[in-house]
This record gives sequence, C-alpha cells and structure tokens, in this order.
Amino acid sequence: MAAYSQTPDWSGAVSALRQSTSVLIIAHVTPDADALGSALAIGLALESLGKSVQVSVGEPQFQVPMSLNFLPGQHLVVPPENVVVPDLVVSCDTSSDARLGSLAESLNAAPISIALDHHASFTGFGTIHLIDPVAPATAALALELIDRLGVELTVDIATAIYSGLATDTGSFKFQGTTADTLRVAARLFEAGIDHATLARRLFDDEPFEALVMMAHAVQHAVLDRQAASGLGLVYTAISLADRGTMPELSMERVIEALRRTSEAEIAAVFKQADDGTWKGSLRSKTEINVGAVATALGGGGHHYAAGWTATQDLDAAIANLKTELEFAARG
Ligand code: MN
Repeated sequence: MAAYSQTPDWSGAVSALRQSTSVLIIAHVTPDADALGSALAIGLALESLGKSVQVSVGEPQFQVPMSLNFLPGQHLVVPPENVVVPDLVVSCDTSSDARLGSLAESLNAAPISIALDHHASFTGFGTIHLIDPVAPATAALALELIDRLGVELTVDIATAIYSGLATDTGSFKFQGTTADTLRVAARLFEAGIDHATLARRLFDDEPFEALVMMAHAVQHAVLDRQAASGLGLVYTAISLADRGTMPELSMERVIEALRRTSEAEIAAVFKQADDGTWKGSLRSKTEINVGAVATALGGGGHHYAAGWTATQDLDAAIANLKTELEFAARG
C-alpha cells in the first residue's frame, strides 16, 4: 500500500496556494533540471500572482550549479541559511524528506506543505500530495498545477518546464514518454521556447575535463555477463580523485554511455561523494525494476532509473548490488 493518496489533491493544492502569501519551494539536494526547473516554474507562476516566493535547496550556501544557471527565475533562489519562514512549503521531485537536506525541518514545521513528485517510492511526507508515478517528469505535474492556478504559460515558465521534461524523458526516449508528453512538449514549443539552445545546454555542453573523466570511466568499465541471472551488468566507479572539480550532472553522462552496452540489461555507476561514501546510480532497459533493487539497498527511484548510497567500501557495495540483482532477476 502506497504511503500517499493515489488521487492528486489538485483542488486542495490550488486553494492552499491561493490563500498563501509567502511560499518556499524546495528542490531535492544535488538538484537536476526536473527538480529545479519545476521549482522555478512554479515560483515564476506564484510570483505573477503576487506571492512572495523563495526557491531553495537544503545544501550549505546553495548556489545554482553552472549546468543549470540558464534556467529562468534565478532571482527567486535563496540559500537555505537565508530562508524566511513562509506560510506554505512546496517540495519538487523529492521522494523522501531526507532528500530535502537542511530544509526538511522547514517543510515539516510548515502548517501546509505540498509534495509534488513522480517517484513510486514517495514516502508520504507533507500535508497535500500531488503524486503521479506515471508522470514522465515532475515538470509535467508542475505545469498541470500552473494551469490549474490559471497562470499564463510564459516563455520563461515553458523553458523551465521543458528542461525538466526533456531531462527526465532522456530527450523523449525513455519508456515513460507518451503521446500526452509530446502534446505537452508541443505546447511548450508554441509558448516560444528555444529548444535547440536548450538541448545543447542540457545535453551537449561540458568542459573538456568532463570528456577526459568520461574516457577514464569508460576505459575502466567492467562487463559481468553472469550478473542478474545472465541478463548482464556493466559498471564503473568514479573516485573523488577521478572526479576532480566535475559537477554532479556531468557524471550522469557516464551512466548514459554505459547503458548502451548490448550485453547488459543493467548499468551502474558508483560515484564517490565528498565524505568518501559511494553513491550508486542504476539504469535498466526493460525487465529489471531497479527502483525496487535500489529500495532494497536503502535508496529508491523508478523502474528504469534509481540510486542509493552505499555504507560499505566499493567492493562490498558491488557485491551487494549483484546479490540484489540476482533476487530481482529470479522474481
Ligand atoms: Mn524527476
């Protein structure tokens, strides 16, 4: 049984937002374009309704990473230390309040909090739930909320929404993409987005050292054909030393490269965090639900994309992953 209502409470969310005067919108830590794009789009919509809006991420002295600094609405972003207590909090693309970092307290202390998310592993925090595990991106739900608030779709809002939608669908390649997804994308084109520039900023714009890191990670990739009852696993690891000054998003490209491997149903990348722990990212092609695998390992996610933080050393983390994949493959 899921820890949330299966029917999004749109009318509850709209009336709470209409009655509010100050709103804090939180994206998950190490935000991607879906989390931050959704937060900024909603922020711009609420600003146009005369609300006082803050957008933040619960990381010390948070600043928008360079890879996302083209998103409209940057003037709404405040570091968590400067957040003024709002009367309503919205979380975007966050399945567990632990992923809100230092702002989890702000959400849990707020009299009204709206959780907007598309993770099947959503844990049920917040007082109003707008959860749809079938939605291809939180950004699609953000647009529905903006529509229901009666706010006009400006080019800035459309740009922020498109960034989330294009990212979470892998440029409209992933399984969750539907005819409705493309109809939403068409609306965003009609609103005037510059999709070619956005695609370059989102997918094809990295410093040279990212290419060097990619080469290193790919060269050290391991193919285990026996893993997952013979479905196959391809994996690599990126240590702190390999990472250098690379931002988080560039490392996502590594798993996108690995998952092309024909001989492997599953791709995994282990990234070492600043505190030395290993964060695992998982992708599957069809059969294996890596969201369930990641949940068993203490993380969470979707059928085709998921992640967790390993508490062991790298060899043990790889061994644990293989054990869980074996369980998953045997059903
Ligand atoms: Mn998302």
